[in-house]
Amino acid sequence: MQARVRPLSYAVVATLAVVAICLTPPLEKKQVFPMQPVVVSRPGLEPANFLLSPLVVEASNTELMDTLAITGTITSSLYNALNESGVGVLPPSARHQLAWSLADIFEYKVDMSRDLHQGDKFHLLVERLQKPNGAIIVNKILGARLALSNSRSPLEAIHFDPPGGGSTPYYDASGMSLRAAFLRAPVAFRRISSIFGARKHPIFGEWRNHTGTDYAAAMGTPVRAIGDGVVIFAGKKGGYGNMIDIRHRNGMVSRYGHMRNFATGIKPGMRVGMGSTIGFVGMTGWATGPHLHFEIRVDGVAHDPKLALQSRGGEPIPANERALFQKMRNQTLASLSDAHGTGTSE
Ligand SMILES: [Zn+2]
Repeated sequence: MQARVRPLSYAVVATLAVVAICLTPPLEKKQVFPMQPVVVSRPGLEPANFLLSPLVVEASNTELMDTLAITGTITSSLYNALNESGVGVLPPSARHQLAWSLADIFEYKVDMSRDLHQGDKFHLLVERLQKPNGAIIVNKILGARLALSNSRSPLEAIHFDPPGGGSTPYYDASGMSLRAAFLRAPVAFRRISSIFGARKHPIFGEWRNHTGTDYAAAMGTPVRAIGDGVVIFAGKKGGYGNMIDIRHRNGMVSRYGHMRNFATGIKPGMRVGMGSTIGFVGMTGWATGPHLHFEIRVDGVAHDPKLALQSRGGEPIPANERALFQKMRNQTLASLSDAHGTGTSE
C-alpha cells in the first residue's frame, strides 16, 4: 500500500512544482533605482549639513546597496566610537567589521594600538550591502578621513580600483598608494588587547630612556617583520633577551626583543617578507611582563619608530590612471565633506 502511495504523492508534488514555476513571473536580472542615502545621526549637526545628495544605486534583484556617511569622535576607543556611530544603520557584526576594515586601510600609516587619542575624529563613506537573506554588511569603505590630534593634517583614504590592478585599492588625496614598504606595527593590531584604545601604556620594568616602542601582548602572540629584509641577528642579547634584527633594503634595521622563541627557520641570512611571523612575544631579558620591544635602527643608532617610519610612502598611481583617479577622488572627498559639513582643509 505504502509503496504505491509514495510514487503517487511524488508525482503530485512534482506537478504542483512545475505549475508554480510556470506561474511565477520572470525576475528582472538587474534593476537600477535611486535610493535616498541613509543619514547617521550626529549630535550638534543639522541634517542639512550632512545630507548626501541622492545617489543612484545599482542593485541586482538579490542585493541592495547604498552609501552611508558615518562620523564620530573617539572618547574611549575607535571601536566604541564606530560602534556608537553605526547604531541603527549597521548591525553589531558590521560595526565590528568596520573597525577592522578601517584599521586595515591605515595599517601602513597609523599604529592603531598607539596613535589614537581622545578627541580624534573620523569621517567615513561606506558602501552598505543587504544580502538576499537580509543580512547587512559593509561592502567596502569608499573613503575615509582620520583627523588625529597628534597629526597636523588629516589622513585621507580614497578607494580606487585601477583598471590595471594594483597592490591596494586605497590612495591618499595626492594619489600615493596607502600601501607602503613598512607596516607601522610589528604586532598585528588584532592581537593586541588594548586595540584602538586611547589609554596609557603599561611599563614593563625595562631599562630607562630606551628608544623604542613596547607592545603589550599576550605570551606567544606572533611577531611580524615590518618589511621585507634579511635576518642579520637571531639569538640572545643582554637586556633584549631573545632578539632578532632584520636589515631592510634601505639599510634600516628593525629590532625585536624579549621574544619567547623564534619562528621555525629564523636564523641569520634568512630572507623574510613583510608581515611574516618571525617569533613570539615573551618576557626574556629585562622585562617584568610579556611584551614586544621594537626598535628602528639607522647606522647603529636607535630611532623612534613612529618618526622613522612616518615618511615612507607608497607608490604613486600610474600616470595613465591619474585622470580617472582624480575624478573619483574629487567625488569621494566632496561626499565626505558634504556629509559632514567639513572641508578638506579641516
Ligand atoms: Zn622597550
